[in-house]
Amino acid sequence: MKIEKQNFIIHPIPVLKDNIIWIWVKNNEAVVVDPAISQPVISWLKENRIKLNCILQTHHHEDHIGGTEKILREWPSASVIAAKGDINRIPFQTCSVIGNENLVILNELVKVISVPGHTKYHLSYLLHSSTNRGPDPVLFCGDTLFGAGCGRLLGGTPKQMFDSLKKIKSLPDNTKIYCAHEYTESNLEWALSIYPQDPNIKERLKEVSVKRAKGLLTIPSKLSEERNSNLFIRAKTSKEFSELRFHKDNWKR
Ligand SMILES: [Zn+2]
Repeated sequence: MKIEKQNFIIHPIPVLKDNIIWIWVKNNEAVVVDPAISQPVISWLKENRIKLNCILQTHHHEDHIGGTEKILREWPSASVIAAKGDINRIPFQTCSVIGNENLVILNELVKVISVPGHTKYHLSYLLHSSTNRGPDPVLFCGDTLFGAGCGRLLGGTPKQMFDSLKKIKSLPDNTKIYCAHEYTESNLEWALSIYPQDPNIKERLKEVSVKRAKGLLTIPSKLSEERNSNLFIRAKTSKEFSELRFHKDNWKR
């Protein structure tokens, strides 16, 4: 892959069963989001002669931090941004944040948003690009919001997750959702099992199935799509959210 100087890209590296590691590249420098494993990231950066600037961690789960330390051995001056509350679980963090900070990374403004629910200290990173890639904001949201779904509650309460999704819902419609797993198709199958006549869910499932059959990713999605066909984003109360989460946790295809 040829990357021109000045180019701004966000490149996916699908790994393990369904994880996606995101590499955001600008001017031959890179930011890696949630490296589940190290080798494909190191190889890709070296092949493209790109220097690692920093690693963003959304939360402490092994399939998000598993590759970080090995990657740091190759680029020891790279920083690791993670939640202060996770200092014991992500001890190699070099820049601890709590949410609401505005960071400047690769000369771009990145806002840290605290989104507890999947875990107690889960973070999202919102990138407002000022480049010629266009005005679409980019959200690296880890395991909080998925294509047509959301993360399980493994550390936070339903109310926390509902409020976190509300924060994401308040972002502009054209925000691109760069989550950490490719789950969209099965999430839509679940949603259709609840609302078999819903035109938005039906239509999206059709599009997503075509992409998956070709081996393509369905991520990033747009927040506007999630508003239309993601039942968790559509939930109006924390009680409704909680019932949906329970239903999904116990659903089998
Ligand atoms: Zn997780």
